[in-house]
Amino acid sequence: MAGRNHLFIPGPTNTPHEILSAMHVPMEDHRAPSFPKLFKPILEDLKKIFKTETGQTFVFPATGTAGWEIALTNTLNLGDKVLIYRFGQFSHLWMSMAQRLGFDVEIDEIEWGKGIPLDAMETRLKEDTAHEIKAVLATYNETATGVTSDIAGVRKAMDAANHPALLYVDGVSAIASIEFRMDDWGVDGAISGSQKGFMLPAGAAILAFSQKALKCTETATFPRCFLDLKDQMAQNKDGYTPYTPSTPMLHGLRKSIDLLLAEGMENVYARHFRLAEGTRRAITAWGLKLCAQPGFESDTVSAIVVPEDKDARDVIATAFSKYNISLGGGLAEVMGKVFRIGHIGDMNDVSMLGAIAGVEMALLDNGIDITAGSGVAAAIEYYRSTAK
Ligand SMILES: *Cc1c(COP(=O)(O)O)cnc(C)c1O
Repeated sequence: MAGRNHLFIPGPTNTPHEILSAMHVPMEDHRAPSFPKLFKPILEDLKKIFKTETGQTFVFPATGTAGWEIALTNTLNLGDKVLIYRFGQFSHLWMSMAQRLGFDVEIDEIEWGKGIPLDAMETRLKEDTAHEIKAVLATYNETATGVTSDIAGVRKAMDAANHPALLYVDGVSAIASIEFRMDDWGVDGAISGSQKGFMLPAGAAILAFSQKALKCTETATFPRCFLDLKDQMAQNKDGYTPYTPSTPMLHGLRKSIDLLLAEGMENVYARHFRLAEGTRRAITAWGLKLCAQPGFESDTVSAIVVPEDKDARDVIATAFSKYNISLGGGLAEVMGKVFRIGHIGDMNDVSMLGAIAGVEMALLDNGIDITAGSGVAAAIEYYRSTAK
């Protein structure tokens, strides 16, 4: 098929040409005296993206999933109690990892479409007077349902309960795209990956830990080796890594950070809001609904519910085979019920309009009763009226 495949999934996201070019480099000696000149400023500048001055940043040759494991195994002991809210496939997988690793996992099942219930959390933490809960695992942006939780509110609830648990945040589909303030929100472990907001290929877990979390690494007895933060810290202080880094990835990350900071993080957040809002206007014009309930809508991904007698997988298959666009599928409990449009990373008004037009064609082809052009028209009006 002529033309390119258009990637409208919430990760991996589109990689800008500037980043692809920056990654096109010969291999180099990662033990050379010049290597810290590349790596140290990356670790330093990542703090501006995580919005932390007191925390420490890390890059592991891994993915977001490893970030979950790094947070758990470096700071906790076998059998420690952790509290998690399960409301989508990613919070499910993090929960499942904690169980498989042997932690005592307290699960609060939340309806898919909602996020972390702040009042219930505060009540639960107040009940835990013995402070048995050692960490709260919060999925900031649940990519499966397009649900964003209020992490500032989570911190408030923890403080109101005067609870000392560590706050770990899965920000894989949020950090570098929607508002994230590690220090202001008192986040102890912020987990991200290269292939979403950072617009890179998969292959880097990009993380930040608070001094409180790092102190726990000194006493935590959970066995760990490849994912040991202490080994990273010992080498990172001189600008090196404990094992071979992906140097092209680091050159790409350098460019990604430069692009994000040149745009300005507040502008990056505003752009993601606009892209998402135009998409939401289109969804409303089609007469369809988000999986996310009001107040939980994500600015990086919209999960759209199809009418009950339809299968969202057919819409995704048509979109791919007839129109060469990739949409996200429904995962686990929402399989067949939703399809997802990613509006994260290297996107602008016209790329979103392409996604919306392609989705309209695939919806119509599958007998879903929408008016041709209605979503595109709603999005055009919104983008025009808010363009600078
Ligand atoms: C993509 C994603 C992950 C998993 O990251 P991998 O890079 O696939 O390991 C975890 N959490 C969320 C919220 C995600 O969107």
